[in-house]
Amino acid sequence: MSSELSNARVNLLGKSVEELREFLAELGEPEYRGAQIYHAIYAERKFDFAEMTNLPAALRERLAQEASIALPRIARRYLSADGTVRYVLALTEGKPANVEAVFMPEENRQTICISTQAGCAVDCRFCLTATLGLQRNLTAGEIVGEVLVALEDNREALKPQTNIVLMGQGEPLLNYDAVMAALRILLDQKGVAIAPRHAALSTSGIVPGIERLAKENIRPNLAISLNASSNEQRDQIMPINRKYPLEKLLEACRNYPLKPREWLLFEYVLLGGFNDSPEDARRVVKMLSGIRAKVNLIPWNPGDLPLKRPERERVDEFQRILIEKGVPCFVRDSRGQDVMAACGQLALAETAAAAT
Ligand code: SAH
Ligand code: SF4
Repeated sequence: MSSELSNARVNLLGKSVEELREFLAELGEPEYRGAQIYHAIYAERKFDFAEMTNLPAALRERLAQEASIALPRIARRYLSADGTVRYVLALTEGKPANVEAVFMPEENRQTICISTQAGCAVDCRFCLTATLGLQRNLTAGEIVGEVLVALEDNREALKPQTNIVLMGQGEPLLNYDAVMAALRILLDQKGVAIAPRHAALSTSGIVPGIERLAKENIRPNLAISLNASSNEQRDQIMPINRKYPLEKLLEACRNYPLKPREWLLFEYVLLGGFNDSPEDARRVVKMLSGIRAKVNLIPWNPGDLPLKRPERERVDEFQRILIEKGVPCFVRDSRGQDVMAACGQLALAETAAAAT
């Protein structure tokens, strides 16, 4: 076979069951073979056509010539003392880029944090990913691939439940179509089979994206990075607030059609001396009135930026005020800090690695 032909192999990773059916029909094969391949890739994590023994041998050989299942490659793997694994994944299809995914084992489940873009254009002042700028959007196949690689690399140690959080690099709602195509596969019970209630998408507050997500049949839980108690404050740390100010953002949240037992999650990165006072806490309570909300407080994870981690007493006081006023509130200390796997640190980790 000539090398031109092998270069033209079609990557099947990220294709929906309909797309796989069409691809098989184009090859002159029965369409149901598409569903079998869908199941083999996403549910069984078979990435070599030779292993798909329910397909006729001739078809397996033909697929090996005409198609590929191109997963992101693990470029580096860092193991934290708390069991967290941080992956640097090299994307080899299209413009080369590195992204990160984090695997966090717990007693009865694992949580996988994935990236949706290489870098990010939103430019939040407290986040090191912002210093990369936007390198490129990930494709649906690359996003699904992050989860499959992390699951496969921990195959022997997997617990029955998998949670995914779209909280790595990038702003998921600025790569909407690829993110939704990936989620349809990840949350499909015939696909990767993650329960929609075990998935969460975090956004800096892209209002049109929130409005679009509201109309999806199958969707993950929505998390909003609030991070401030007034427009003036939010403008300073999240430039996106000038485009979608708090009134617009909160209006979209109020209109978001929550199912029974569903909540909106508000993340609030606490920056010492900036947004962590009792007055801030009381303003947050007011802002969220009328919204079925939970709040996650995230003490800022330091990087090479002129900001401070909050004092523990301030964090506790902030939490106490919210709970007293009836807003469920949790403090999230990021995991994997010793391997730079914590929120907002992924970019720093890579820059540091590149310098060594
Ligand atoms: N772009 C999306 C998702 C990725 S960021 C978003 O902004 O929501 C995931 C979370 O990490 C966000 O809530 C963000 O506010 C938080 N974060 C970013 N940098 C951080 C840091 N240095 N310390 C703690 N949390 C941080
Ligand atoms: Fe982008 Fe989220 Fe970081 Fe803001 S916090 S720069 S939106 S990744």
